[in-house]
Amino acid sequence: MLIRSNGMNLLIDAGLSARAIENHCRRLGVAIESLSAILLTHEHSDHIQGAATLARRAKAPIVGNSATLNALRERSTADFPTLTLPTSSTITLGETTVRSFPIPHNAVEPVGWVVESGQGRIAYATDVGSITDDLREAVRGAQLVIIEANHDIRCLWHGSYSPQMKAQVASPVGHLSNEECAELLAERMEEGTAATVWLAHLSRQNNAPSLAKRTIEERLAKQKCVPHRVEVAMRDQPSVSWRYGAQAFQMSLL
Ligand SMILES: [Zn+2]
Ligand SMILES: [Zn+2]
Repeated sequence: MLIRSNGMNLLIDAGLSARAIENHCRRLGVAIESLSAILLTHEHSDHIQGAATLARRAKAPIVGNSATLNALRERSTADFPTLTLPTSSTITLGETTVRSFPIPHNAVEPVGWVVESGQGRIAYATDVGSITDDLREAVRGAQLVIIEANHDIRCLWHGSYSPQMKAQVASPVGHLSNEECAELLAERMEEGTAATVWLAHLSRQNNAPSLAKRTIEERLAKQKCVPHRVEVAMRDQPSVSWRYGAQAFQMSLL
């Protein structure tokens, strides 16, 4: 995810190769040298692949808690610039405020991110095993909510994963189902202000974009919700962008 805000260019995670991310950035008019920071959620390979190389090339720090940065160092052959940010603390980059919050997931110290710039607030949480008060608080005031809708629970149980994998994905430190995502959003939309929602981190085997969108929209239609827009961040192509003070662009996940 690329967020452009008041002259700052922030990446959240870097799960593609450095070259692929560089190409996507260039298409969006962002030279890799102008990257300001890479905010890391956790050390799983689908989130870190290009991070170290990009940080070195851009001379931009990878921002994360010390446990996650140490896990990344163990997986990297060369050094890279870092900025340690304890979970739940805030830093200001230019006029943009960035805060991490804890999320339940089977990594060393996984986090989600809240990025604020002027009026605009973006909440980002993928790889979320279960809904917590920290997550509720993060999405409450955000105009752009980027949230995991990983799997349809029936597709997962009837699908091709091993019993162990199924249990792992469905566990409270695994991934968020469409149904759980819908519950969180229904709560958010009932009490909150209007928002755009990007459904992210959809499983290729256990979900489909149309199924995720339909499940969430049907749940939201059941109760009195504020106006909202639900879009799917496709895994194989940059598909969504947003502008509200800050700008956010989703990149291809492949
Ligand atoms: Zn993960
Ligand atoms: Zn992941």
